[in-house]
Amino acid sequence: MTDAPLKLFNSLTRSIEVFEPVHPGEARVYTCGPTVYNYPHIGNMRAYVFADVLGRTLSWKGLKLTHVINITDVGHLTDDADAGEDKMEKMAAEKAQSIWDIAEHYKQAYWADVKALNIRQPAQWTVATDYVPQMIEFAKGIADKHCYELESGLYFDVSTVADYGRLARAQTDEGEGRIEAVEGKRNAADFAIWRKTPPGETRQMEWDSPWGKGAPGWHLECSVMSGEVLGFPFDIHTGGIDHREIHHPNEIAQNQAHCCTNGLDDPRNSGARIWMHNNFLVERSGKMSKSSGEFLRLQLLIDRGYHPLAYRLMCLQAHYRSELEFSWEGLGAALTRLKRMVMAYAKWHGQLSLPPREVPGDSWERERITRDLITRFDAAIASDLNTAEALTIIEELLALKRVAPECIVTAAVRMDAVLGLGLGKLERADLRIRPKATAISEAEIEAALARRKEARAAKDFAASDAIRDELAAQGVEVMDGDPLGWEWKLG
Ligand code: AMP
Ligand code: ZN
Repeated sequence: MTDAPLKLFNSLTRSIEVFEPVHPGEARVYTCGPTVYNYPHIGNMRAYVFADVLGRTLSWKGLKLTHVINITDVGHLTDDADAGEDKMEKMAAEKAQSIWDIAEHYKQAYWADVKALNIRQPAQWTVATDYVPQMIEFAKGIADKHCYELESGLYFDVSTVADYGRLARAQTDEGEGRIEAVEGKRNAADFAIWRKTPPGETRQMEWDSPWGKGAPGWHLECSVMSGEVLGFPFDIHTGGIDHREIHHPNEIAQNQAHCCTNGLDDPRNSGARIWMHNNFLVERSGKMSKSSGEFLRLQLLIDRGYHPLAYRLMCLQAHYRSELEFSWEGLGAALTRLKRMVMAYAKWHGQLSLPPREVPGDSWERERITRDLITRFDAAIASDLNTAEALTIIEELLALKRVAPECIVTAAVRMDAVLGLGLGKLERADLRIRPKATAISEAEIEAALARRKEARAAKDFAASDAIRDELAAQGVEVMDGDPLGWEWKLG
């Protein structure tokens, strides 16, 4: 039922490949995590929903998963390509707080979003500042053959490894112009693996190294944390599609240098067997940008009354390699879809405790239907994580008729282990749109509706209409005869 070969799109070869674990029976995955200088926006969270579905799919396939996500608390500059200030230092200066406090605050905020989106805990969160000695050792190991020193730091010479930039499909000279000039760089795409603290300055985060006091480069961090915890080569490295252009090509170059391998015709020489990238979540009015004041955080969706798992469902409706456009209408539609699934699941679950009904026909034949759906579900997710199709299959399952509830519930629980919607844990009432800014409480609404029911029973339609109008004035829409069974909603 679950033996469709797992096929994944490898950005390095730009082709779909059958997943073959480096270590039989295991899957080792590294995901580039957040830079904790600010709250993540919902586009960032799309990257982790994608990595989570990948991890859940590997588990569904019976592989022992070791997933690592890092937390970057030093070294990520305001420009991915080696220019600008350290994002953490900049925010700490703006807020007049210590970097450690900033990192802790935003790490906790990120973890809250991870939890709210049912993203499973990875086997390990690696924090960049915990690995600085290993980063220095790594840099020492490649410095002689692959690096050169400038006043501002230790730079990696990209011409010393074969196939530099293949992941981005870029020519080395295309790097010209994309990087703020650093005097003395041999190639435009060369990047700092160690950034020296400028003379006369003290950074909040700095360490001694053979190249002077300073801090590691962002690309070095991920090479070191992934290699340390998972061992080169590991199976899959993930990140957002922007990382395909600079961060990951640079990680790959370092991995090649460190592992003394060359040439990317064998993808394992890159440090990982497969490189996977999610496409972007986009929003037309620019609300995704963290510099735009109120930007699209998961908390904003929650404050406007949307359950966070509606956003997870919104992500699953699109293929991870497609761009996804955010809109409030789209989020509302995802919420309604989730509501229907939760209600259907609850109906089946509620039937479990009832005495078995006599259903005409051959039970083997009827249960074959659920087995076929599991097979189709497996084929969908094994096909480069086709979650959009997988969703239609679980809906088909929940809409079946005259099938033993145990079969439906068991199959739905299995499918949801991949989708992560938590159908069994959600209650219909959790999915009501409930904006935070509304003054009226639920108890007050329920009390008003109870009075309205009495008035209607007594055929006092004037009183009933008056209550309806009072509620409307407070933003509560009374929904008589709504097919989803809601009695009211906050507009
Ligand atoms: P950062 O904290 O900036 O390193 O980003 C965290 C993750 O989010 C990275 O994997 C990025 O590639 C990814 N990312 C950034 N913006 C978006 C977006 N709009 N949609 C999807 N993923 C994104
Ligand atoms: Zn990274």
